Amino acid sequence: YAKKMGKPNYKIYTKTLNDEIMEKVRLASSLRKALENNEFQLYYQPQYITRTREICGFEALLRWNSPEYGFVMPGRFISLAEENGFIIPLGDWVLKQACLFKMRLKNEVINCLNISVNISIVQLMQEDFVEKVLCIVNETGLDPEFLEIELTESVLIQSIDENLIKLKRLRENGVKISLDDFGKGFSSLSYLKNLPVNTLKIDKEFVDDIGLGTDITDSIVHIGQKMGLKVIAEGVETDVQYQHLINTNCDMVQGYYLGRPVPEDDAIKMIVQQLGYIPK
Ligand code: C2E
Ligand code: MG
Ligand code: MG
Ligand code: MG
Repeated sequence: YAKKMGKPNYKIYTKTLNDEIMEKVRLASSLRKALENNEFQLYYQPQYITRTREICGFEALLRWNSPEYGFVMPGRFISLAEENGFIIPLGDWVLKQACLFKMRLKNEVINCLNISVNISIVQLMQEDFVEKVLCIVNETGLDPEFLEIELTESVLIQSIDENLIKLKRLRENGVKISLDDFGKGFSSLSYLKNLPVNTLKIDKEFVDDIGLGTDITDSIVHIGQKMGLKVIAEGVETDVQYQHLINTNCDMVQGYYLGRPVPEDDAIKMIVQQLGYIPK
């Protein structure tokens, strides 16, 4: 770009870089205040049994109602929060809120719904991560069998031994583990074989391929089920995709076609509608 201008224009370049850094600093400081000011909110996206279309769980997805930035999606702040460590207190908050939401459901309906929470590798790397999770679960009174943590495949390549011990301890305590965005990273099937996971979450990228002739979701479902895992497809947007996933025997589905992420009260309404009664 600078070359096209005839001579290198370092000023413009420097200014842009500075702006970028300043923007990051500003965002980081707003993030810190946001937790104190209660600006974060969890949305919940339903997960369905493919065949029956019954809701079997919800995934908690973080949103930020910022007075400065508006309604901010996690794609804009999670990686920054990971970089500066803010993901630790933020992640604790998410976990606690999600457990409380599940407890609220328990009080209103008789249903075995799972609550899935996204956990960053930075959170998992904390020495006391397992204790923290169990403590929050205990504090909220949740049965750990209903909590599922979603991790991406990065757990397969970073400090695998330590992470493995932690995941095993969570499993021993009943917490379920789901491998998010499956197929997108460096999935090694031999690592997967040794990971104490319950669920494979097929990345949206593969769901998008359904009907295009390059679809491998049926193979992923097959491999997952051979390994004794449940398989869920994420990002299901069309009836064609949904029907295909019924035909390939994919256990569960999640996506805009079936249900978008919604605020807590709307998520409860979804469940109430499914059960056909109104809680007192
Ligand atoms: P993810 O865990 O893979 O979540 C799926 C993302 O796809 C969510 O985006 C969801 O809203 C979106 N989605 C669901 N169904 C569809 C669909 O049919 N079509 C399309 N186009 N998108 C769909 P979202 O909420 O923006 O979250 C993005 C990512 O941010 C998540 O990806 C997750 O990695 C991360 N994230 C969200 N909440 C948290 C959190 O509380 N903690 C951590 N550590 N990460 C989070
Ligand atoms: Mg997820
Ligand atoms: Mg995902
Ligand atoms: Mg994703």
